[in-house]
Amino acid sequence: MSKKHVVVLGGGTGGTMVANRLRRRFDMDELEIHVVDRDDRHVYQPGLLFVPFGLARVDEIVRRRRRQLHGGIVFHENEVAEVWIERDEVLLDDGTVLPYDVLVVATGARLQPEETDGLTGPGWNERVFTFYAPDGAELLHRALSSLRSGTVVVNLVDMPIKCPVAPLEFAFLADWFFRDAGRRSDIELVYATPLDGAFTKPVASQRLTGLLAEKHIELVTEFNVGEVDGAAGRVSAFDGRELDFDLLVTVPLHGGAAYVDRSPGLGDALGFVPTDRHTLQTLAKENVFALGDATDLPISKAGSVTHYEAGILADNVACLLGGRELEGGYDGHANCFIETGFHKALMIDFNYETEPLPGRFPTALGPMPLLRESRLNHLGKLLFQPIYWHALLPGRELPGLGPAMPNAGKRRAPAGTT
Ligand SMILES: Cc1cc2nc3c(=O)[nH]c(=O)nc-3n(C[C@H](O)[C@H](O)[C@H](O)COP(=O)(O)OP(=O)(O)OC[C@H]3O[C@@H](n4cnc5c(N)ncnc54)[C@H](O)[C@@H]3O)c2cc1C
Repeated sequence: MSKKHVVVLGGGTGGTMVANRLRRRFDMDELEIHVVDRDDRHVYQPGLLFVPFGLARVDEIVRRRRRQLHGGIVFHENEVAEVWIERDEVLLDDGTVLPYDVLVVATGARLQPEETDGLTGPGWNERVFTFYAPDGAELLHRALSSLRSGTVVVNLVDMPIKCPVAPLEFAFLADWFFRDAGRRSDIELVYATPLDGAFTKPVASQRLTGLLAEKHIELVTEFNVGEVDGAAGRVSAFDGRELDFDLLVTVPLHGGAAYVDRSPGLGDALGFVPTDRHTLQTLAKENVFALGDATDLPISKAGSVTHYEAGILADNVACLLGGRELEGGYDGHANCFIETGFHKALMIDFNYETEPLPGRFPTALGPMPLLRESRLNHLGKLLFQPIYWHALLPGRELPGLGPAMPNAGKRRAPAGTT
């Protein structure tokens, strides 16, 4: 075939995996691959959870982006300005125009703290923090270390957010952190969520709600934040309820990348990209694909999702370029370790059809307990960082980490019971 061009927008988890998988699959004279990202700092985002507790430093979880891309991939350190879908071209901020045969949208989700009244006003980064960005995570470490007494409120403003369990993990680790420091009896922990329970899926939500109670973390549900007053230390919900805090740990509103709004036909009202849930082709045009946090798919915005999608997306791009029918089908598979403190973690595994259930998850190292705290799960969580840099990002196939959700090991309730 004549030489084709693939342009990948975003050089984070999904963009890097797809570009590397395509580079391994196609010769240089068959395919030119361009990756665009606004900076050269690839953050291992699951590591941000550990920074506020002094369990990781930011410099340990950041690597140069271009070093994660295989040789023969052209990296553009630039902001995406607009996508011209009709012309099959992308405009970058410096005026560069990149024509493509296939476009892959992997620009993730954007934090929008400025969308909540008062959130970034007085007190921002002094008593109101987010660990979802490296600078906030570092500042929060100082604030937690010096807090002797008072109330810590952990709040997610609205769904969808990246890694929906990360704020829960934060609350569990905060409980561990203050107990370890001998200060827990002087510190109230409150978990305020817009959901009607600790999590979105019923079985997992029940288990996680129980864990919050066991750890004496107060759960406040259906709390839809209207306004934050950092000076007074108060967060108010639209229904009039108020929570006082000495320290607010917020997960701000998320939206899609700003250029999506400027690219007619590409995104929805929130800036996420309507995408076919199985093929990962966007609804914008047949040669535009999307994966990871940038999509509107009804599944968690998670690295595991992005990884499972990357293999299927790369297969489907190869089909499209080869003039064949798309064959890959994503089932919505997602899994996640949930740190619960004291060197333990839970694991959840689910897809579009099956909610997280108890049982065991088969891995090459042996079965890992599902929805049950264990040290093995905690070790799995820690092991994931080297696996991420050395196997997942380079696009290597790993035994036991295929995209389809395993049914084996899951304990389903007998029919008629829930
Ligand atoms: C605190 C935290 C903990 C997490 N923990 C877990 C976990 O335990 N397990 C798990 O599976 N997932 C976890 N995640 C989620 C996971 O990190 C993301 O789901 C994953 O990185 C999504 O990959 P992505 O490629 O879609 O987006 P990203 O990896 O975020 O990449 C998007 C890229 O696009 C670039 N970009 C955006 N807009 C533009 C533009 N206009 N121009 C140029 N470049 C642009 C950005 O710079 C970025 O590099 C966590 C996330 C956070 C924040």
